[in-house]
Parts: sequence; structure tokens; C-alpha cells
Amino acid sequence: MKLFPVFHDLKGRSVLIAGGTPATVSKARLLLGAGAVLTVIAPRPAVEISNLAAAGRLTLRRRQLRTEDLEGRALAFIATGDPAGDAEAAARARAAGVPVNVVDRPRLSDFQMPAIVDRDPVLVAISTGGTAPALARWLRGRIEAALPAGLARLAGFIAAARGSLATSLADPVRRRRFWDRALDGPIGALALAGREAEADRRLRAELGRAAPADAQGMVHIVGAGPGDPELLTLKAHRLLQQADVIVHDRLVGPAVLELGRREAGRIDVGKASGAHRFSQTQINALLVRLARQGKRVVRLKGGDPFVFGRGAEELAYLRANGIAAEVVPGITAALGAAASTGIALTQRGLASAVTLLTGHAADGLAGVDWAQAARPGQTLAIYMGRDSAATVAARLITAGLAPGTPVAVVENATLPAERCRRGNLAGLGDLVARHRIDGPALILVGEVVRAAADGAVAGVRAAS
Ligand code: SAH
Repeated sequence: MKLFPVFHDLKGRSVLIAGGTPATVSKARLLLGAGAVLTVIAPRPAVEISNLAAAGRLTLRRRQLRTEDLEGRALAFIATGDPAGDAEAAARARAAGVPVNVVDRPRLSDFQMPAIVDRDPVLVAISTGGTAPALARWLRGRIEAALPAGLARLAGFIAAARGSLATSLADPVRRRRFWDRALDGPIGALALAGREAEADRRLRAELGRAAPADAQGMVHIVGAGPGDPELLTLKAHRLLQQADVIVHDRLVGPAVLELGRREAGRIDVGKASGAHRFSQTQINALLVRLARQGKRVVRLKGGDPFVFGRGAEELAYLRANGIAAEVVPGITAALGAAASTGIALTQRGLASAVTLLTGHAADGLAGVDWAQAARPGQTLAIYMGRDSAATVAARLITAGLAPGTPVAVVENATLPAERCRRGNLAGLGDLVARHRIDGPALILVGEVVRAAADGAVAGVRAAS
């Protein structure tokens, strides 16, 4: 080990910064954040340093460094911008016995600043021993993305529970095992998701048991977005990386599934062709069974779980069976299709409302309020309407929507195979048939479709 990592408590300790380069500003912010009492010595300080001094956050001396400035300092940072000045200041610090860091000069430094991921109070520090700062920054990016944003909440939850756990589980080895199990399972996941009260209830129930129960799993009902894997949320990505098993629909493509943990089992419950297709009842039962086996289950659904995704039914079933479950939203097909085709869903003067409709002939059409859907000034986003396109169009026209209303059929939105075909409402059925649309397709209806085709966005028209 080239460098020895320690975390230094600087609260109320006196720290010196010598020099006026821009690097002193970020150091000053970090040090103030850690509660240090800061003095900056610089003939020409950076503007922000002067501002911080004016605000009373630090002491500023506009002059060269003197030996007596080092007295009683816990640490010294040097960034004079001049190699000779840096070397001289470092020598002074060392002579005074003050550990010194010279910014970007590892050879002159007693200690180095790591790249950090700050989820206060959780802190990850990365060092490459000064050999490859670029690598440290790159790693920081990877770790930032992998760590849940709720870490601080989780740390707070553990801190609050530690006291009572020390009394009820006196043996430190058993306590450690208990925490490992809790953090791996629903207790940890619930605390991370901000549902501390529920996590606490489970924690207490677990503690109340004479023998540890079989580890309980949890189900995350996760939206996979419309297809482009980059449209996953960070949370979806993290959960996929941690999953023991991924239960997915047919709509979820291979590019998204590849992002799951390699060792995770994958169950396709949406196989349309072939002998077997899981019924909703079978899917519900499967999710409960997997969670009871202690598995971390990701129930992965195309788009958003709560937009024509039956997410609500699964959530209710899981909760009714005492299984911890949470929902992670995804980008729904309408939003994906809008973004990738440039057709806005609302637009000033054209559409002040968006209606998400099902065109599914079997379970949807009868329940649609066609009069409401035919009102002008809105955009319709029709899901599952490919095969019933002609019927949907006829109903809308009967309800009063103009036959010439522009429509777009967006197939495989956000995927490499995306196609967008435009026409008008009267010709919608024909449009779908003529272009042999056979992938998942979203139908957009409304004046916004024409506006996008014309490039009739205010700014564009003004410019041309
Ligand atoms: N929960 C999903 C919708 C599931 S219903 C969501 O929020 O997007 C299935 C319908 O979604 C399909 O019939 C199709 O209309 C639409 N859909 C899903 N992914 C799509 C895509 N990539 N491109 C176009 N339409 C899509």
C-alpha cells in the first residue's frame, strides 16, 4: 500500500491554505464543509476566497506566507501557482511539523486528496496513489452512478436502530449477521426508498423472532422504459445489477436485459407465441413464491409499470401477501415516442392536455370516453391500438374529431428499428396496414403532429 487511507476529523481544527490559484477555492469549500477553521494566506486571493472572507467564513491575509502562519495548524494546503513558491511553502510547513498537501505536486506532499463520492455521512474516497488522477475521476463517476441516492437515509436509519439492537442482540457476531441480512433484504431496501417507518416495523418484527426467520426477499416493480437501455433510471439500473431474478415482459428487449446482473435468473412471463403464456394470476403467484425464497426480484415492465402495465394489481397482491414491494417508474412509451420523433405532447396554442388511451379491443375500447377523447386542444397517445387502429379512428370521428386530424404511428420508439409514419385520422387503419406496422406501436393524434412535421415551432418559423 503506497498511501495509508485515514478520514480526518477537522471540526473546529485550524487549517491553512497558502496561495491564490483557483484550486484554493474548491479546497476551501471542502474544508469549510468539514467544519475546519480556515485561514488563507495569499497576496492575490481568488475572488471567491475574498467573498468567503467578506462573509466571515474564513480569515484572509493578503500577503506572503510566513513561518509563524503555520503554528498550530492541523493541515496545510498549498497552491501558489509558482513551483518555487510551492516548494518553499512546503518546506516551511514540513519544518513546522504540519502535514502538507501541494495541489497537483504529489512529490512535495505528505498526504494526497482522494477523488470523493460524498453521500454525507457516507464517503467513498478513491486514490490511485497519485499515478492516474484521470482514472480516479473515471472511477468516481462509476461509483456515483452505482450508489443509491438514499444512502444518507439508510445510514440515518441504521444509526437510529443501533441502540435498541445493541440491547436486544448483545452478541456482536449475531448482531453483524443480523445487519448483513437486513441490509441485503427488504429492511435495507425500504429504508433506502425512504420508507423508514415500514423498514422499522420489519426490523422490530425480525428482532422479536426467537430464531432468525428465513431471509425474506423483496419485489421491485421496475419500469424499463420504451426500449433504449440508456433511458433506464439510475435506480432501475442499480436494482438490475443487484437482482437475483428478473421477471420480465415480452416488451423488454435484450439490450435492457443485458444490463442485469449476469448471474441473475431471467424469467420471460410474456411469451406470446409458443405453448405457454403466464396468466396474471400465475405471475402474481410466481412473484410471491420467489420473494418467499428470499430472492431479490426485479419485476421488469416495458415503459412505466403504472401506465397500462398492470403494476397496480401486482403491487396490491404482493402487499396483501406481506411481501415488501416498491415501484420504480420508467419512461412510458408516449414520452419516448414524443422525444425521439420530435412531436411534443403539449404545445402552446395547439394542445394543453394529453390523454393516454388504450386501443386494446378486448379490455379497453368499451371503457373509453370517446366524446372526451374527441375534444380539440389535446393530444391523444393511444397504446395497444395498432390492430384496432381503424376502429379507434372511426369511433373518434363519430364522436366529432375531424377526419383530417393529423396522426403519427410510432413503431419501436427509441429503438434502432424505430419507424414513424404520418397521415390523418381517416386514413389511420390504412396507414398501419400499408406500412406493415407489426412491432409495438404508439399512435399520436392531434395538431402537434402537424406542427412537428412543418417544423412549426415558434422559433423555427421565426428564423426561416
Ligand atoms: N407500460 C407500458 C405500456 C404497456 S402496453 C408503457 O408505459 O409504455 C403495451 C403498448 O405500449 C404497446 O402496444 C404499444 O402501444 C406501447 N409501446 C410500448 N413500447 C413501445 C415502443 N417502444 N414503441 C411504441 N410503442 C410502444
